[in-house]
Amino acid sequence: MNTVYIIGAGPGDPELITVKGQHLLQKADVIIYAGSLVNPALLNYAPSNCKIYNSASMTLDEVITTIKQSVDKNLRVVRLHTGDPAIYGAIQEQMDALRKANIDFEIIPGVSSFLAAAAALKQEYTLPEISQTVIITRNAGRTPVPEQENLKSLATHKATMCIFLSIHMLDEVVKELISGGYTPETPIAIVQKASWPEQKIIRGQLNNIVEKVNREKINRTAMIVVGHCLDSQYALSRLYAPEFTHMYRQGTDKKDD
Ligand code: SAH
Repeated sequence: MNTVYIIGAGPGDPELITVKGQHLLQKADVIIYAGSLVNPALLNYAPSNCKIYNSASMTLDEVITTIKQSVDKNLRVVRLHTGDPAIYGAIQEQMDALRKANIDFEIIPGVSSFLAAAAALKQEYTLPEISQTVIITRNAGRTPVPEQENLKSLATHKATMCIFLSIHMLDEVVKELISGGYTPETPIAIVQKASWPEQKIIRGQLNNIVEKVNREKINRTAMIVVGHCLDSQYALSRLYAPEFTHMYRQGTDKKDD
């Protein structure tokens, strides 16, 4: 029986899928893709006789039944998710159902949109003496967020925050972040459709971003990045400091690290 591949499609640009993911698409007999977010241009990698399903209009049961019927016919099945499937991919329930049905599967990771957003912003998220932590989160929507993870309490860490699935509630997000301790002047950036041809970046502060985003009419497929890494002030990385010794370079401090 063929292994089913659950593949991260990357954030949009069809060249941002892994080589492994691309090869598997090129050999697929059946592709079930998350049509709400996966760039359809990725389907151009598929062979012309490949059967393509858009999971946006399917239930979990329908997805699993389609996979099962296809592997029973010895077809090669790819399940294509946006970004990396481990982040808000709803793959756990699919994997559990596949295990139950004794269907072998493998996961091929992808470039998550929070990383494509960093690339678009030309920004490092982990700056010395600013933040060494990235928080990946979302505001509560139809999917609830556990109480101890609400934005207000996460904001108290002043780490770099990448907030998914929340652009349509930006005003609420901003209020929560400020009540958690971020000052109204904290820098924030919105990246809509990172790596797509229509990518758009809006930079501002917590106190003016809602107005800017409303003006641009951005209300979906956007990453919210918040934190002082977006300021220009930071300490230089130790890694390339002349005195810093590490496994691959003897620095002037003569100490191993
Ligand atoms: N698994 C995906 C996330 C799926 S949840 C990943 O790893 O990226 C969907 C959310 O991801 C969207 O609401 C948006 O916040 C974000 N997103 C997905 N693609 C994006 C893109 N190209 N640019 C900006 N944000 C994106």
